[in-house]
Amino acid sequence: MNLTNLFELQTIDTQLDAFRTEMAAIDSKIGQNGAVQSANQVVASIHNEIETHQMKLNLTMDEIERQRIKLAQSDSTLYSGKIRNPKELQDLQQEISYLKKSIADLEDNQLNQMIEMEELQNKMEQAKQSLNGIASQFETDQSQLSARKESLQANSERLLRKREVVLVSIESDLLTRYDGLRKRKNGLAVAALDNDSCSACGTQLTPSERQEVHQPSKLFFCPTCGRILYHK
Ligand SMILES: [Zn+2]
Repeated sequence: MNLTNLFELQTIDTQLDAFRTEMAAIDSKIGQNGAVQSANQVVASIHNEIETHQMKLNLTMDEIERQRIKLAQSDSTLYSGKIRNPKELQDLQQEISYLKKSIADLEDNQLNQMIEMEELQNKMEQAKQSLNGIASQFETDQSQLSARKESLQANSERLLRKREVVLVSIESDLLTRYDGLRKRKNGLAVAALDNDSCSACGTQLTPSERQEVHQPSKLFFCPTCGRILYHK
């Protein structure tokens, strides 16, 4: 029995199965931009931190401004000479020294907040760079995946046309057995004989089996895995 065409069919189908598996794997990766989304979220969260921090910094600056105005007013009252009462003068001097101390504290605060702001801005710069890197890697990966998928599709179509041609020359009984075996044997119905061993399961044929397998008149099945053995 000439199994050349059946073996050819098996070779084509094995290749087609591999293409389908790879295309399914590609489909599951196309459009999956989880890494880009995470990097975007990091940028957004730092952006929020910066906004919150800027509000605190603005409040501190406003408070400094408010106290400086008060200090200027108190200073001008003190030097106006209008207040003669010693108690009132003392109160005013106390207030001025309190305001000076308070402004100095607020300025320390402001400086710390500005340092923190600079750190946040550096963090933002890094997060944006990381996002750019991840996004451009994603674009590259996606276009490579698309290109690979296109090539797999073209190759599949070419093989399917070849399959149609091969199919015509295989009798229908044999084809039915082939299809059944393919379903049960993980896609591989026909195994080549390799140094008198089944290339699928490795079983070594006995001398009598070897004689049998070379008889062209009938199908020979691997005694272990049950696949059709093909002798090149
Ligand atoms: Zn076998």
